[in-house]
Amino acid sequence: MKYAAKCSFGRIILKINDQRLAEGLQLFANPRNTAAGGLCMKDPKEVARRGLEAFIYTLGYAVNTAGEDMLGRFETHAESLDMLGALGFKVPGPERKVCGNIREVVDFCLYWQGQREEYPYEIDGMVVKVNNRQLQERTGYTSHHPRWAIAFKFQAKQATTKLINVEYQVGKIGSITPVAKLEPVALAGVTISSVSLHNEDFITGKDLRIGDTVLVERAGDVIPYIVKSLPELRQGKEEPIVFPRFCPVNNTATPVELVREAGESAWRCPDCVCGAQDLERMIFHVSKDAMDIEGLGESIIRRFYEMGWLRNIADVYRLDYDRIAQLEGFGEKSAKNLRESVDKARQNPLHRLLHSLSIHHVGKKVSKLIAAEIHHLLDLRQWTVDDYLHIKDIGPVVAENLSAFFHNPRNIEMLETMEKLGLNLNQTDEDRPKAADTNAPLHGKTILFTGALLTMSRKEAQEKAESRRRQKPERREF
Ligand SMILES: [Zn+2]
Repeated sequence: MKYAAKCSFGRIILKINDQRLAEGLQLFANPRNTAAGGLCMKDPKEVARRGLEAFIYTLGYAVNTAGEDMLGRFETHAESLDMLGALGFKVPGPERKVCGNIREVVDFCLYWQGQREEYPYEIDGMVVKVNNRQLQERTGYTSHHPRWAIAFKFQAKQATTKLINVEYQVGKIGSITPVAKLEPVALAGVTISSVSLHNEDFITGKDLRIGDTVLVERAGDVIPYIVKSLPELRQGKEEPIVFPRFCPVNNTATPVELVREAGESAWRCPDCVCGAQDLERMIFHVSKDAMDIEGLGESIIRRFYEMGWLRNIADVYRLDYDRIAQLEGFGEKSAKNLRESVDKARQNPLHRLLHSLSIHHVGKKVSKLIAAEIHHLLDLRQWTVDDYLHIKDIGPVVAENLSAFFHNPRNIEMLETMEKLGLNLNQTDEDRPKAADTNAPLHGKTILFTGALLTMSRKEAQEKAESRRRQKPERREF
């Protein structure tokens, strides 16, 4: 049996990222996503800018001018690739070899594992194939892949380095993420100087200490992480990592104590004033799930934030579109479109706005329940925890979070500013519960649809039935 081996490819993206950095755009994380994303873009000019190259690694269909099958004339896979190469297609070159036995296959794979840093593309393994086409036919296919080809994945790349210090970052809802600062170490083509430690349990579970020598790994596209510490190399000066009790970012007169709710892995700052949290909140605020502001994605929010144009979500509603039109990559038209999407968002129903505020555990459903109960968002200033608990499906944790948010003067001030900037804070038709009708024909009935329906989809049928059943929950006394 003969074998052929070839590499799988990813285009190096260092050059593209240099360019994107210069233009203030978000950097690509890895070649695979850059290539895959590039192929989905509608603008061919944009696709061309990504500098993609295609290597052909198999021939699936071939006929001659008379329409006769040519594929069957190749005895081996290697011959078909040679022909493609002769026709001018890019095919694997030195990284392809027809091997005489399995030992040669293993040696060739291991050779390339050792050469991967020298190779001009990022690769994470090789593919071993049966070369003889008749044997390929005989081995056949599973429902997913051919039985005559198998991947040889290279070892995840590892390195050891020193854990120098731990810093803490604050996320959208105030979650505190510990980040290990490392002595810079080269690994899989990048220099690594900091890695996330996720949460306190990760640190205690691996018994990590400041000053420890740690083993760092990076496999494929995975972001680097600490596999373990090497306690045998300790010298006695290593210090335990003490997770902070108070917010490491807020430098308010009274320190803000961190909270950790039952069943959660993260410590949170319940009242964080740091910019990073505001940035995360803005990114969520404009997202599809929240205010759905088209044309204002994460990368633009980050860009405007770095330029000092955005500090909190209220700033989204006072952007200077003349200045935006001057920016590289924008122009009059894009600036005008952006203004229109922001204007549209000003009229959003209340439940969207409430959801967009990133109050912990306040998702779409809770937002709708509350929006149905109030005339104006700032009515919630008067609400107590108990008031929230009167709404069915709202639990004590959510009630506490909502109450804390609407009793915080900073949040109230921000919402008042947003209202002055033309944002709707009033209950809209979409927020109001649908009118009660206890005489509705299907009132109080449970309906189950099974099988295929002829004249409408199941979802449509469900909506129709709902509209004939709707009732406002009411309390009856006997
Ligand atoms: Zn804080």
